Amino acid sequence: MESSKREPLLRELKDYLIHLKDLGYTEIPCEANLFANAQQSTGFQQSQPPLSTNEMAKSLTAVQKELGDCTRCKLSQTRKNIVFGSGNPNADLVFVGEGPGADEDEQGLPFVGRSGKKLTEIIEKGMGLNREKDTYICNIVKCRPPGNRDPEPEEIAACKPFLVQQLKAIKPKVIVALGKPASSTLLGRTVPIVKERGTWHEYEGIKLMLTFHPSYLIRFYTLENRKAVHDDMKKVLKELKR
Ligand code: SF4
Repeated sequence: MESSKREPLLRELKDYLIHLKDLGYTEIPCEANLFANAQQSTGFQQSQPPLSTNEMAKSLTAVQKELGDCTRCKLSQTRKNIVFGSGNPNADLVFVGEGPGADEDEQGLPFVGRSGKKLTEIIEKGMGLNREKDTYICNIVKCRPPGNRDPEPEEIAACKPFLVQQLKAIKPKVIVALGKPASSTLLGRTVPIVKERGTWHEYEGIKLMLTFHPSYLIRFYTLENRKAVHDDMKKVLKELKR
């Protein structure tokens, strides 16, 4: 094959392999058209190009501009507003949740409903930080999954490159993954959150703490769970030297 034809193919293959790695694959799946199949199975065809995760860091504004009026997955068909993220773009601490709920979808802001109030309480009363000044908060998918169901793998795959770019832009010292979907997405494997919460991991050279999602804490408001999250946040503060 001529090298002029081979090079674009190799570039495409490299991007595909990086994409698989970001999804947590450690081996190459047999079906080369894995993602084409996933799209066909949902009946949703996106027209915007995916964002490559191996790009250089951009500003948060540039990432948001690139996201635009995103229709890269089927969540675009039912959302009211894209919930990009909020807080300090230079924060040392980033919280990553699962996806917007009804209140977030209405307002276009993350963690503004009941779970948001709980998260604010954890940050401000529990940690003594200011939510807007000291943290940045975002989710693994930027549009609300209907009925607050879990985001599906192809939705996470379509949206994750924007989370990757957000984290590259902010360069925090610590990331806190809230709950199993966020922890699993960032670590690229299924995380048993009850077993692994409170443990340190690493995401692209950044310290990563896993803890319960505030909605889990609201649902199972036991002394044990409250203490667990309190202990996890104490470890985060120690890492941040606060
Ligand atoms: S969830 Fe993410 S990828 Fe899907 S439409 Fe919304 S912004 Fe785009």
